[in-house]
Amino acid sequence: MALLVQKFGGTSVGSVERIQAVAERIGRCRDAGDSVVAVVSAMGHTTDELTGLAAAINTSPPQREMDMLLASGEQVSMALLAMALHQQGVTAVSMTGPQVGIVTESIHGRARILEIRTDRIRNQLNEGQVVVVAGFQGTSSGPGGIAEITTLGRGGSDTSAVALAAALEADVCEIYTDVPGVLSTDPRKVPDAQLMAEVSCDEMLELASLGASVLHPRAVEIARNYCVPLRVRSSWSDEPGTLLTSRCNRLIGQSGLELGSPVDGVEQMEGQAVLALSHIPDQPGIAARLFETLSTAGINVDLIIQATHEGSSNDITFTVAESDLEHARSVSQSVLDSLGGELAAEGGLTKLSISGAGIMGRPGIAAGLFNCLSQQKINLRLIATSEVKVSCVIDSASGRKALQAVQQAFDVADSQVRMNPELSCTDEPEVRGVALDRDQAQLTVRHVPNRPGTAASLCSSLAERGISLDAIVQSERQHSDGSRDISFILRKEDRSRADVALAPLLAQWPGAALEEGDAIARISAVGAGMPATPGTAGRMFRALADAGINIGLIATSEIRTSCVVPEQNGVAALQAVHAGFGLGGQEHHQAHGTASPLDND
Ligand code: ADP
Ligand code: ASP
Ligand code: MG
Repeated sequence: MALLVQKFGGTSVGSVERIQAVAERIGRCRDAGDSVVAVVSAMGHTTDELTGLAAAINTSPPQREMDMLLASGEQVSMALLAMALHQQGVTAVSMTGPQVGIVTESIHGRARILEIRTDRIRNQLNEGQVVVVAGFQGTSSGPGGIAEITTLGRGGSDTSAVALAAALEADVCEIYTDVPGVLSTDPRKVPDAQLMAEVSCDEMLELASLGASVLHPRAVEIARNYCVPLRVRSSWSDEPGTLLTSRCNRLIGQSGLELGSPVDGVEQMEGQAVLALSHIPDQPGIAARLFETLSTAGINVDLIIQATHEGSSNDITFTVAESDLEHARSVSQSVLDSLGGELAAEGGLTKLSISGAGIMGRPGIAAGLFNCLSQQKINLRLIATSEVKVSCVIDSASGRKALQAVQQAFDVADSQVRMNPELSCTDEPEVRGVALDRDQAQLTVRHVPNRPGTAASLCSSLAERGISLDAIVQSERQHSDGSRDISFILRKEDRSRADVALAPLLAQWPGAALEEGDAIARISAVGAGMPATPGTAGRMFRALADAGINIGLIATSEIRTSCVVPEQNGVAALQAVHAGFGLGGQEHHQAHGTASPLDND
């Protein structure tokens, strides 16, 4: 007899018939002798509709009242599902987040789970009941110990389900949704997207945070950290769907189910070199040509960043192993000879990385890393950010003291430090999936002083207000006063708060100014085999160039490459990159939502 946690999304419980079908599925599992905890979302688009009602009544509704309102959506579906189960002769009881004992932080709108008090749910299961739980909600103890309903953030029912599975040590957590599982990309935008039989939690975490809305990123974090067997499956079939795999196996500790440190490793890679190409033309095909030429020459490029300057020319900076420096220099120079532009190269560098899960989703972590290095007066030559790894390229002479400081700051044991890890060739695909995110805005801070600590203070100012940033690019070129520019992207919904957060800092930097970029879309490719496969980035840039799409900003991390393109090119870019990596196949499914495939919402 197995314990199953099954989560049913909005479309899966979107009508009376759908709820009955869910009840039948649960009934079959009970007949087979399994115990079931069912976690439900609000029916259909209820949460959007409730949000619309709130906005029509108050332009800035209190967060507490938003939680009171939105939590009602899941209560409707939980009670209806329990009734449907009774109708089919299956004993069931519905429970709200507070009744289940899902205890969260005292924050409204995006609370993280601290613990799940499982006694009550276990008792109900022991009595042979199916327990139907309202997803997306929990309870805080609140100021003065008063319990308040909290919600976990949009899409958070996935997180409720995986957290319950972790706390109950369930045999499996199944996320039932309106697609056959995790696909190589969103089938609404690319109809020939293919099902993945398996995906690692690290890859999924990157994909989910880069726009693959099929799973809430925090659900993937929990599955990864506590090794929860997690499957994404279709509500419309018995196909096995996609299995998420994880190697990590933490125990739920004192610090809180979702609040443990996201950093569980530090890596140092010595013998690195940086090549910086500046003043190169800003037009489609340049990055493709450069990285294809480097790949043909057998040079494995690691990190890449590109930023556009004053809309007319680009700087591209990338790293290679120091042993490839001279070769990479001459290959790059040969490309520049026909394009124009300048080349600077330097060796003697080290890459220092922190790794884990949900790093950029917690804004204080990257800020903490940069602050730690700036306190040691270490200059950050290049920064690469992602959910599973944040890396800084620094001077090798500072390597040892940087490692010690970072290990201490993040409380990382010697056994969790990897020195000069080998790139192991695995049979993992270079690109497993691609994702599109149109919820990002691009900002540039012009005239940032050129000294250690500027990226740190920028990130810290934003982190203090809970704002995460990504694709942080420090310009190679300097203004006549020696200052530089720093570009980054952040969520559109954080945009106006970023102005307020950065104002005091900018006031301290003479001539500094914040500049808003054009509307953007971020397109990202993710694959565990990327680091060991030369030429992946070049293939992505080629796919975009062949589609006539110009790349504004490039930012890579170990298992992902992201490009920022004009917003209106977003879907075309997604389709081009998906096809470019040969991820398409037969068109055999479409989402069972109200939206049609190819809808561009
Ligand atoms: P639910 O209501 O079941 O939680 P969601 O709408 O949150 O469903 O997530 C499912 C949707 O995620 C799909 O309908 C699909 O359009 C979208 N999606 C985006 N990227 C992917 C992907 N890589 N694989 C599968 N679905 C994806
Ligand atoms: N109903 C909530 C939402 O629409 C939570 C969820 O469905 O996961 O965001
Ligand atoms: Mg969802």
